[in-house]
Amino acid sequence: MVFDVVIAGAGIIGSSIAWRLAQRGLRVGLFDSRTMGGGSSWAGAGMLAPGGEAGDDRDFAQQLLSSLRAWPDFMRELSEESGESIDYVACGALDFAFSDDELAKLGRRAARNESFGVRVERLNVPEIRSIARDLPEGLAGAYHYPDDAIVDPRDVMRALRRVCDRCGVSVFEGCAVRMIDTGGNGVRVATDGGQVCAEAAVLSAGAWSGEIEIKGMPLPSSPDSYPVKGYLVVHELAAGTLGPIRRREGTYVLQRSSGRVLSGSTEERSGFDSSFSEDMAADLEKRAAALVPALRNRARVDAWIGFRPGTSAPRPAEGRCGDSALWVAYGHYRNGILLAPQTAENVSRGIIASLGRR
Ligand SMILES: Cc1cc2nc3c(=O)[nH]c(=O)nc-3n(C[C@H](O)[C@H](O)[C@H](O)COP(=O)(O)OP(=O)(O)OC[C@H]3O[C@@H](n4cnc5c(N)ncnc54)[C@H](O)[C@@H]3O)c2cc1C
Repeated sequence: MVFDVVIAGAGIIGSSIAWRLAQRGLRVGLFDSRTMGGGSSWAGAGMLAPGGEAGDDRDFAQQLLSSLRAWPDFMRELSEESGESIDYVACGALDFAFSDDELAKLGRRAARNESFGVRVERLNVPEIRSIARDLPEGLAGAYHYPDDAIVDPRDVMRALRRVCDRCGVSVFEGCAVRMIDTGGNGVRVATDGGQVCAEAAVLSAGAWSGEIEIKGMPLPSSPDSYPVKGYLVVHELAAGTLGPIRRREGTYVLQRSSGRVLSGSTEERSGFDSSFSEDMAADLEKRAAALVPALRNRARVDAWIGFRPGTSAPRPAEGRCGDSALWVAYGHYRNGILLAPQTAENVSRGIIASLGRR
């Protein structure tokens, strides 16, 4: 099999890159060891929320912000080309504070975010009440991020599957990439289905990227990537009851258009341990009910865990490796859904330029 580009990993990152490349006429082979969209992209909450994700890194904050701005067009184009509806809600977000100390801490974060260009405003309790009902007792105030949004990543993956099929991307599920050799002209890629040659390869296997061997270049032979396990729990409330996303420290609660309420999350470095702890889920429910009183004593309707793609670098690994034919797009950690439009644009444009295509 010969392709222009082989992509290892069909999560939201690899699939979005595949779509963009195929739109521009390239022959793309998209390989996944399991199913397309069955990794972290299936498990993600889908908050599109750049504030607080970049620390002091102004350039990364700009990358997150520009991807947030790209989402409405990306979503419309994807929905139109696929014929699939995508649940996208521009609902904003509220960072809750229950004490003056918490307000001061959130204020410092808001000031840094504002300096990066993120819109944020401080609200008192009556102002919070004007945009959100069912508030918890003891609220001292909140910071409002009006541009934050949510998208359902499972809708996005369903749509990406359609557009990849329509654009002629060859999708191979249940077919792992084992090794990428950049030593000769282009790349040689060893897969469970045999060897494949291409002009370029993209490594986008999320938390599993470190399991793929890289040969033929002066780079570590195993990419720096690891899983960060996270839980989500789901409840039902009447559609439209929540309004903005609610957040406090490591807890967030958001509502899909259907009414389903997702609460997250947890962070664990425990390898690919897929066991499910009732205690962790119960603790998460308790934290969520402290932000949304209507969730108290409400029966859980669903819950799952997923593996965020972590990397020890402060930002995702994204771009060309030296002047080789290997491109990387992994390590998006808590922001892979948010960053997908921007990463797909950057990586696909870079590949097309490097291959001398237009
Ligand atoms: C609980 C939770 C909540 C989250 N919430 C948010 C959020 O609100 N907002 C946000 O932006 N992000 C969020 N994320 C993070 C987001 O889901 C990820 O950053 C994003 O999905 C990463 O996409 P990916 O394509 O890099 O990885 P994945 O979706 O994991 O895709 C990688 C793919 O590679 C495949 N693969 C593995 N090994 C091989 C191999 N050897 N060969 C070929 N294929 C292989 C896997 O099967 C998988 O399908 C959350 C994640 C979790 C777990």
